[in-house]
Amino acid sequence: MVQQNYSADVVIIGAGIAGLWLHNRLNQRGFHALLLENQSIGNAQTLSSQGIIHGGAKYALNGILSKATQAIGDMPARWQACLAGQGDVDLTGANVLADHQLMWSKDQLSSKMLSFFASKALASRMQPVAKTARPNLFQHPDFKGALYQLDEPVLDIPSVLHCLAKPYRERILHTPADWPVTWQQQGNTVQSMQLGDDISIHAQHFVLTAGEGTEALLQSLHLTKPAMQRRPLQMALCKAKDPAQPLPAIYAHSLGSGSKPIATITSHADHEGNIVWYIGGNLAENSVGKPLTQLSREAEALLADIMPWYRLPELQWTSHTVNRAEPKQSNLSRPDTAFVESRGNVHIAWPTKLALAPDLADRVIAQLTKQNIQAHTYDSKLNLSLANIGDSLWNSAFP
Ligand SMILES: Cc1cc2nc3c(=O)[nH]c(=O)nc-3n(C[C@H](O)[C@H](O)[C@H](O)COP(=O)(O)OP(=O)(O)OC[C@H]3O[C@@H](n4cnc5c(N)ncnc54)[C@H](O)[C@@H]3O)c2cc1C
Repeated sequence: MVQQNYSADVVIIGAGIAGLWLHNRLNQRGFHALLLENQSIGNAQTLSSQGIIHGGAKYALNGILSKATQAIGDMPARWQACLAGQGDVDLTGANVLADHQLMWSKDQLSSKMLSFFASKALASRMQPVAKTARPNLFQHPDFKGALYQLDEPVLDIPSVLHCLAKPYRERILHTPADWPVTWQQQGNTVQSMQLGDDISIHAQHFVLTAGEGTEALLQSLHLTKPAMQRRPLQMALCKAKDPAQPLPAIYAHSLGSGSKPIATITSHADHEGNIVWYIGGNLAENSVGKPLTQLSREAEALLADIMPWYRLPELQWTSHTVNRAEPKQSNLSRPDTAFVESRGNVHIAWPTKLALAPDLADRVIAQLTKQNIQAHTYDSKLNLSLANIGDSLWNSAFP
């Protein structure tokens, strides 16, 4: 085949939330940004996420307002502005599953934690929910615990992906996963990337937002730093066996005495309209490597323990194993903010949280501006098909 040469201002590799958000922002500013995806849009961590736009309350459970809590604190308002059509990107077509994530404990919280929640620092982010305003599940007379409402919406991520992919659809291309990627470099500057045998793409900047795939891209560039870490999760999914006895839709963290939620539950409708509970938190961290029979037994016992007043219907279970990909930390802990590091004109980026995608885009744009990026027009067309949007987990995870 004849070699195809193509040029863009910026090539972004990986169409998860980070690549998509940045792709929108750069194209809006008049840059020609091309987004390459070698599976389907959102297929990795992004479509595995629970869609909670964290504002940091969950990270403050140890009673300390850390750097992470402060950095993430602005994110719900940034996303809300986008949902209202007044933000960085247009999310007016996205479905909001819940305006607030809730947080409950089955008993009254320890006085230390209660005074922390009531503190000025968190007062604007979480409030106790009045008895009359509680969702049905928490109206039960036997529920004697505390219920707080967090300033954190929960979004339907497939609909977010459709919104982000729509404006510059023709610039989101599928690159077959078995095509090797090689780079033409001059000194510290990458001039172009070669895809397979036939396609060469020249650009002023290359941004790696490939999640777990960034590790292999760094190797292909012979870069040993920044290094990546994987933190695995085995998420549990369940739905009622009898559709006539559906699970209630809830969006809530269950608190114990520790500094992390015992379980984080979000609810999603599958293609038949059945409510699926998607369960993360400590349960998912502690379930890695366990067979499904053990996971479902333990998860069911946990649900009975954290909501003893609720009689669970008979449930069908499955699980989803996925790695979180992040810059390497000394103790496998969660990094504080979106991460962006530049090696010449190659920018390596991990948001570390879906909610931090706006922060990641700000940081990359600041780097490109510092390096004096210029907007050009190009008329060449690449002979690659458009990348498809991945299917939602609630439809694909159950056998
Ligand atoms: C189970 C789970 C639940 C979560 N829940 C939440 C939550 O509720 N709220 C929150 O804020 N965060 C949450 N997170 C974290 C959040 O999902 C991630 O931080 C975020 O989605 C990462 O986005 P990304 O775009 O960097 O990566 P990804 O979504 O992993 O996207 C990377 C993309 O790059 C593509 N790719 C890889 N290699 C290549 C290559 N060589 N060429 C082209 N394309 C390539 C992949 O196919 C993929 O589409 C959760 C994470 C997990 C795992």
